[in-house]
Amino acid sequence: MPFPLSAHNDRMANVESFDLDHTKVRAPYVRLAGVKATPRGDHISKYDLRLLQPNQGAIDPAAIHTLEHLLAGYLRDHLENVVDVSPMGCRTGLYMAVIGEPDEQGVLGAFEAALRDTAGHDRPIPGVSELECGNYRDHDLDAARRHAREALAQGLKVQETVLLDRSGTASM
Ligand SMILES: [Zn+2]
Repeated sequence: MPFPLSAHNDRMANVESFDLDHTKVRAPYVRLAGVKATPRGDHISKYDLRLLQPNQGAIDPAAIHTLEHLLAGYLRDHLENVVDVSPMGCRTGLYMAVIGEPDEQGVLGAFEAALRDTAGHDRPIPGVSELECGNYRDHDLDAARRHAREALAQGLKVQETVLLDRSGTASM
């Protein structure tokens, strides 16, 4: 019996982040990327936590790895029901999934507080050992602290979503 594929078609599923016009945003910012409802009616919100302006730089892998370890804890200290915090593949920021629909100003405040904690972090990075991490040698606390400091100095805001205008593009 063939494996039951659902809704098969020739296209990949739509991914919301590919609809954001990355030239129209101004980092650093938090942005509500989308809200999903589970079959039982719970809501899960996904946020962009963008530190660098897209396509104008990238955080070194070791530094964003350290930001991942630090923000995983510090964001949970300032915001309830965080499900996941993970780096963007483009290395300009992180994604956060959270249960419910916290207001954007609250998420902004939590991210700022977590960045302040990160900028002041002067202890060992949590979870850094061969047992706890998949690449424990690849960390850079100084650079992670610097990125947190710089984002705070630039001032974070809530970014509205600016959708790509695909009206001029043929056969996407
Ligand atoms: Zn790790």
